[in-house]
Amino acid sequence: MVKQKPPVQKNETIELTFEDLTHEGDGVGKVNGYPLFVPYALPGEKAKVKVIKVKKNFAFGKLLEIENVSAERVEPPCDVYIQCGGCQLQHMSYGLQLDMKQSQVKNALRKIGHIEDIPVHPTIGMDDPWRYRNKVQIPVGYRDGELITGFYRKRSHEIIEGMDRCVITAEINDRMVEAVRRMADRLGITAYDEKAHKGILRHIMVRTGEQTGETMIVIVTRTEQLPHEEELVKELHETYPQIKSIVQNVNKEKTNVILGKKTKVLWGEEYIYDTIGDIKFAISAKSFYQVNPPQTKRLYDKALEYANLTGKETVIDAYCGIGTISLSLAQKAKKVYGVEIVPDAISDAKKNAKINHIENTEFYVGEAEKIMPWWTAQGLRPDVIVVDPPRKGCDEALLEAMLTMKPDRIVYVSCNPSTLARDLRILEEGGYETKQVQPVDMFPQTNHIECVALIELKL
Ligand code: SAH
Repeated sequence: MVKQKPPVQKNETIELTFEDLTHEGDGVGKVNGYPLFVPYALPGEKAKVKVIKVKKNFAFGKLLEIENVSAERVEPPCDVYIQCGGCQLQHMSYGLQLDMKQSQVKNALRKIGHIEDIPVHPTIGMDDPWRYRNKVQIPVGYRDGELITGFYRKRSHEIIEGMDRCVITAEINDRMVEAVRRMADRLGITAYDEKAHKGILRHIMVRTGEQTGETMIVIVTRTEQLPHEEELVKELHETYPQIKSIVQNVNKEKTNVILGKKTKVLWGEEYIYDTIGDIKFAISAKSFYQVNPPQTKRLYDKALEYANLTGKETVIDAYCGIGTISLSLAQKAKKVYGVEIVPDAISDAKKNAKINHIENTEFYVGEAEKIMPWWTAQGLRPDVIVVDPPRKGCDEALLEAMLTMKPDRIVYVSCNPSTLARDLRILEEGGYETKQVQPVDMFPQTNHIECVALIELKL
């Protein structure tokens, strides 16, 4: 066979018309059928592109000059959009972002799951797709002898200079990070130096309950000791009455993982509270809690609609976190079993059931893929199963357990359409049918896609 040479060469400048977007949000243009991926290019645009990297079946390019600008192109409001890389879609109209996410879900279902001809609804978007994040975790470093905070420059561990706001983070969290940094700097608390594994302050994490306005500050240190702890804590909560909890997390490891094992309350409560609908949640430092509250409500409402409960059902909520979905389900079911790997999240879930006077739930700590087969062996046969796994999707043992339990319905909440599609294929082969999928935009301005799928047992 004659080996076809790629039609472009490295460093060459070419003219390209864009027809599509990758799932990362890069523009896709073709030269004789050979695709080039170009960040920040939009479908319909024609542009001069420099070829950066050439592979056998595709190449990457850099946008040099746009000849006809798409009507969907908008000015990114963030000053450090390109350097940061935390957002990937700020140059796109919000309408195009929502359309893109709907087509990504459709494509993944078709290509990976071989599932077509089912409704993938238009993405449910936000009315105001900015300043939505209720949590921020920011690294601390130095510049000219002063403490600085800011996200890392794309693919590096270098803090972006002069970054004092993040347009997708709740404003209060930006202000809190700045306050902690300013006080720590004045008190002479040193920043952690990754290379030397010396210094103290690694990260500042802030989470604020959207409905309650309660703020938790988590100060992540390399050392057990936090110098000037008393002064820092006193000044913080006296200056900012919305702070309800100040926690220190100790992370002694040489690692990219932000939080270490040990947390200690320095002041106030171990939790902050927030509400979703009519349920109140206690959230501790290490527990997962969805970052976009208004969209979370929409996502859970859809999951609940798909669960279609009448009050008689037994339900499993796998990967339940602090029990957010479990407790919504419990209000409409006979019994809900939740399972989750993080022990702190399960103690939050139990506490949450109690403070909401919900008595028909049981929560278990463990790997869902181990607990579910164990439940199966015990004879547990739920009517409905809800799963909400991390990006890597469901473990095979868990999918098998579901096929053995044979619930009438499975509601699959997913933050990764590719693993969702892979798992749906397995469920379809095991006798289930995917009925409909609803994308919900939990992460505007970024290429992350969340959706919820309804799967039913075939008769
Ligand atoms: N349903 C919850 C949490 C979803 S995030 C909510 O909406 O808030 C996914 C959760 O799965 C996290 O809390 C994570 O700690 C948990 N998790 C990850 N791997 C797991 C496993 N193997 N078994 C059980 N839970 C796991």
